[in-house]
Amino acid sequence: MRVVVVGAGLAGLSAAESLARGGADVVVLEATERVGGRVRTVALGDHVVETGAEWVDSTHWRMHELMSRFGVECEGEGMVWSTIRRWLFWNGVRYAGERIRDIDSKAIDELDRYDEFVDATGDAMPDASRPSTHPDAARLDSLSLADAMEEIDLGAVARLFARRDSQGEFAAEPHDVSLLFVAQQRAQERVELARLGVEYRAHRVVGGLSRLVEGLWRDVSRAVDVRLSSPIVWVDQSADSVRVGVADGSQFEADHLVLALPLGPLRTVELRTPMADDLHRAVQGLGWGHITKTAVRFAHREWLRGYGTTDSVSQRLYEPTIDQSGESGVLMSYCGGDGGLELASQPEHVRIATITADMRRIHGITADAIGAVSQAWPTSPFARGAYSVYRPGEVLRYWDVLRAPWGRVHLAGEHVATCTGYMEGAVESGHAVAARILAD
Ligand SMILES: Cc1cc2nc3c(=O)[nH]c(=O)nc-3n(C[C@H](O)[C@H](O)[C@H](O)COP(=O)(O)OP(=O)(O)OC[C@H]3O[C@@H](n4cnc5c(N)ncnc54)[C@H](O)[C@@H]3O)c2cc1C
Repeated sequence: MRVVVVGAGLAGLSAAESLARGGADVVVLEATERVGGRVRTVALGDHVVETGAEWVDSTHWRMHELMSRFGVECEGEGMVWSTIRRWLFWNGVRYAGERIRDIDSKAIDELDRYDEFVDATGDAMPDASRPSTHPDAARLDSLSLADAMEEIDLGAVARLFARRDSQGEFAAEPHDVSLLFVAQQRAQERVELARLGVEYRAHRVVGGLSRLVEGLWRDVSRAVDVRLSSPIVWVDQSADSVRVGVADGSQFEADHLVLALPLGPLRTVELRTPMADDLHRAVQGLGWGHITKTAVRFAHREWLRGYGTTDSVSQRLYEPTIDQSGESGVLMSYCGGDGGLELASQPEHVRIATITADMRRIHGITADAIGAVSQAWPTSPFARGAYSVYRPGEVLRYWDVLRAPWGRVHLAGEHVATCTGYMEGAVESGHAVAARILAD
């Protein structure tokens, strides 16, 4: 059996490896000159920082399997997300810890109630891989995180934290996140925590996540023909075979095609055989979040430790090098949703200048900036955004449609996984399409 896999991110590489193990003859076509897609570790002096995916959750067992396989270890103690409320920059003043209550004494209690409310939406979902099984699916899919914020009647401070949570976790504004999608994500996590018997922790990895992708690539390329700098531009299929065309004019024919590229770039590929209407609508319509990450290295670490939330352009500031030694350190701005999109419209040197100035203002940093990198995923041509987000109405409309095969063509990637939005989901989806094709 011949299979072409498009995209050498975690989904494409995982699919290619499983298919080759199952005896298929596989070619991988990757648009860029590197593998890994939205996993991209960058060196800043002696430090490494993640300009794409950063955290591996303790529930992400497929990722932990890859880590064991390639001898990649967790960095530091890991964290739980409630610690992101360490400090707040609000109206030009930085408030740390208990002082946040000085601005609004009710804010933290309101946020706790909001988190409980949002988390509880997942409790009644019997099967996280099929969110339509939630008994209240239609109502939840008609609502958004913004409706949940209204329901709990958050004050201004709690509202900022909740908005930043949405921009951080879903890369989208609260009104762009379906509550049924949130319920699905919470249900998925709850099931995995119970099944694996682990405590929730999110970890960075020593040396960076690119080590995992490179390890996988080394193994895959022993059995599979991986072609870099080969963006596909058209797809055609008949009853017997499928064909793809690459920008340089070359063509590949196969029995099956795995499209493991994000939907943004897929939307620009010419489909010579039209998709069924519902699939076409889903591919064109599914929400896609936006994130711009900007990392600045300073000669000395003159800042408050831990995650901070700001009402400024930086949105969230934290130190990705907190568990890396040395006098110098790196601060990261993680900017999602509308702010991430807006920042992405600026050239890299302007983004770096804007964020560096904001970091200096917030923390009173006097040390020199000695390196920086900014990655704008919304304008990255082969990503065109951060990751999928199901907007109100889209879970019931698009979830099942996107996960079914289209003749000999199969979608893979985080956007069609149960663990949507995560590296774990990318690996999951790669294995799932390979199993489906091999069973054919
Ligand atoms: C800023 C940011 C932060 C994130 N944080 C986390 C996190 O902390 N934890 C986590 O688990 N996940 C995180 N994610 C999500 C995670 O990175 C993705 O879910 C995962 O890497 C997606 O893998 P994929 O294989 O589905 O897609 P990709 O990694 O995007 O791979 C797709 C590949 O297809 C290629 N391609 C595109 N167009 C074409 C074409 N026409 N022809 C050929 N090839 C093409 C691309 O170049 C790319 O290599 C984050 C993502 C971003 C952007």
